[in-house]
Amino acid sequence: MAKQKSKRIYPIFIPFTGCRFRCSFCNQWASSGVSQDEYRKKIEQSFDFLMHSEKKYDEVSIYGGTPLWSGTGWDIMERLQPFVESGKVGGVRLSTRPDSITPDIIQKLVDLHVTTVEIGIQSLSDKVLQCVNRGHTVADVERAISLLHDSGIDVIGQFMIGLPCEGEEIYDIPGWAWKHNIAGVRIFPLIVLENTEIASWYKEGKYKPLDVDEAVYKLARIVRQLEEYDIPVIQIGLHSSKELQKAVLAGPYVGNLGEMVRSFINFMLVNEGKIKEDDVPVSQRRMFDRWRRVIQRGNT
Ligand code: SF4
Repeated sequence: MAKQKSKRIYPIFIPFTGCRFRCSFCNQWASSGVSQDEYRKKIEQSFDFLMHSEKKYDEVSIYGGTPLWSGTGWDIMERLQPFVESGKVGGVRLSTRPDSITPDIIQKLVDLHVTTVEIGIQSLSDKVLQCVNRGHTVADVERAISLLHDSGIDVIGQFMIGLPCEGEEIYDIPGWAWKHNIAGVRIFPLIVLENTEIASWYKEGKYKPLDVDEAVYKLARIVRQLEEYDIPVIQIGLHSSKELQKAVLAGPYVGNLGEMVRSFINFMLVNEGKIKEDDVPVSQRRMFDRWRRVIQRGNT
């Protein structure tokens, strides 16, 4: 499978649509920035835009929810077919749970020109998946990946760190992603959002999120290794939005998390003599003193 470095993607959001489980960390209304009242209207606006736009897209992607368990998801895929057939859109992309990928729907996905599936993997530990009420196992993820790859569909892996019950297995992500031929990765630290089960655990003192420095340190180690395996990291942390900001209760939520992670990786590379400090952008070099303190504190 090809590695996915940069694609022109037009997103359509269907928050929570089709979800049979409510994962303990998830508040799609906040993280997608699309409210419950307006998402249907936004779907129609998206089709209207695609109809009148001169632009071409590599893929139109369905994000949020579980499109393969929802009539809305399948309906959007059907409605995208004329755009694919006319060449305006290269293919359909969707983000979904691993257990929604089953042998009986694979051919349908191929027929509907699905070219990429982003799988919510979250963790490589069954214990962690159980702790966050995901309702699937790592074996389900691996089964889904095989089915998709056998049909020529690219797989993007979405992971989280800072989950309850988590251990050192987060550092297995790069090797595992390489072994499973993952075309790209999105990775997020858990942010405690209002109206989630994790928010209740946090308020009761049963869950403590990562702080920003811990998140940067852990993400930097993982991202660096992923890139050493030549696996593109296409997103680090949630995109900020007003809706998200209003819902954040705790955790490493900063607008420039990706830049901080890049700075930490470059800090490590400078320390190891692999690059010169002068070659690092000034905005990233300004954070180096902070990373020195993080290493000295050794609280990562
Ligand atoms: S994480 Fe995915 S599957 Fe879980 S509730 Fe949120 S949208 Fe649904």
